[in-house]
Amino acid sequence: SLTDRLSQAFKHLRSKGKLSESDIDGTIREIRRALLDADVSLDVVRSFASRIRERALGEEVSQALNPAQQVVSIVNEELTKILGAGVDRPLNFAKKPPTVIMLAGLQGAGKTTLAGKLGYWLRDTGHTPLLVAADLQRPNAVTQLQVVGERAEVPVYAPEPGVQADSSDVVEPGQATGDPVKVAKDSIAFAQDKLYDTVIIDTAGRLGVDEQLMQQARNIRDAVNPNEILFVIDAMIGQDAVQTAKAFDEGVDFTGVVLSKLDGDARGGAALSVASVTGKPILFASTGEGLKDFEVFHPDRMASRILDMGDVLTLIEQAQRTFDEQEAREAAAKMQEGSFGLDDFLSQLQQVRKLGSMKSLLGMIPGMAQHRKELEQFDEHEVDRTEAIIHSMTPQERREPSIINGSRRARIAYGSGTMVSAVNGLLQRFEQAAKMMKRMSNGSRSMPGMAGMP
Ligand code: GDP
Ligand code: MG
Repeated sequence: SLTDRLSQAFKHLRSKGKLSESDIDGTIREIRRALLDADVSLDVVRSFASRIRERALGEEVSQALNPAQQVVSIVNEELTKILGAGVDRPLNFAKKPPTVIMLAGLQGAGKTTLAGKLGYWLRDTGHTPLLVAADLQRPNAVTQLQVVGERAEVPVYAPEPGVQADSSDVVEPGQATGDPVKVAKDSIAFAQDKLYDTVIIDTAGRLGVDEQLMQQARNIRDAVNPNEILFVIDAMIGQDAVQTAKAFDEGVDFTGVVLSKLDGDARGGAALSVASVTGKPILFASTGEGLKDFEVFHPDRMASRILDMGDVLTLIEQAQRTFDEQEAREAAAKMQEGSFGLDDFLSQLQQVRKLGSMKSLLGMIPGMAQHRKELEQFDEHEVDRTEAIIHSMTPQERREPSIINGSRRARIAYGSGTMVSAVNGLLQRFEQAAKMMKRMSNGSRSMPGMAGMP
């Protein structure tokens, strides 16, 4: 799978300390091959690879991440971009109801199942949806939608039984029980009359793309003028994803994509291909046969999933370990000796800064949601100010802050371009932090990471 291939590519980097240009090129070659095998189009792979190369070579060195991890984080960001500029694309509702959502895709893609899920989700969020049976191709398609609607407790608009297709219709003789275009059109009037605010039109699919099917879909589209045309694609489809997506893009010019059967072991090849080939946003993911196996699509989460969360989590853990253990243990030891000074305080601050420079990276990880607030509160300018103040002190003042009297405070404030009150504030915080660390180091060997920090 794509995930396995990518993690293989990164594994070769992992053992390296410092990356050479040829290390990076080797990895990018592997990434290219993995993406091509996952049916991502050549143009996209090319520009993707060159962006990663450029960034990997030019990246400023982060001390909290090793070079391999930096490459992973760059790939993660770029994947997120391909998958939809990194932002969720919400459903486009009509200003004047009803909102019309038309479903298109191959037979078996999951359209009818999705109609039920979408109906259920909309009802759950305060809407009044109506499902429309405009798949009149297969004899039992209407019944299937009715069963789905019943389960979702969403009403279904279906043609009168026994109505014959009119002569202009494209449906095959013997299978037709009505005109799908007329059914779709009538359903809008029905929804307006009965005050349904969303109309979800289920349409027919064939096993392969064919022009008759596409023409029928276009006719339905032109008759109802949908707010959204959602192209439903089976994420397990593999090799055919690009061709199918292109055909439907040209055929009906859909507005958004729904990936179905993401519960299988397909891990993103189809998503990347469809998103990159069509440039259309992915709105939803269908993840099972149940009504609730449905989610709003998040590009950032999909990217993490493709890269395997394990890798990304390793990266975070590493950064945290760098921050916590090593330096904290040293500081604790110094505390015990009574030699913890402002220099040490400064190096603690720089540890905090490492975490701060990772703010954007950490923010992308779904599991980090609960830490996001802390990250937001981290103020780089405050750290800059504190650093400037400490830099304006003499070595002796840093070792023995108690000697910093009034005239020294004025000199330090002047030297660091701050106010005496800022110097006072810092010395106060340092004293508090020092006290707290002393208490902690007496009790246990662990350190209060950011205690007393700005
Ligand atoms: P349609 O022909 O496009 O309307 O496809 P259907 O909605 O009838 O779905 C075809 C088959 O795929 C059915 O057996 C569904 O139960 C199954 N299916 C649809 N969506 C999913 C999904 O997200 N996960 C899984 N595992 N099965 C699905
Ligand atoms: Mg169907």
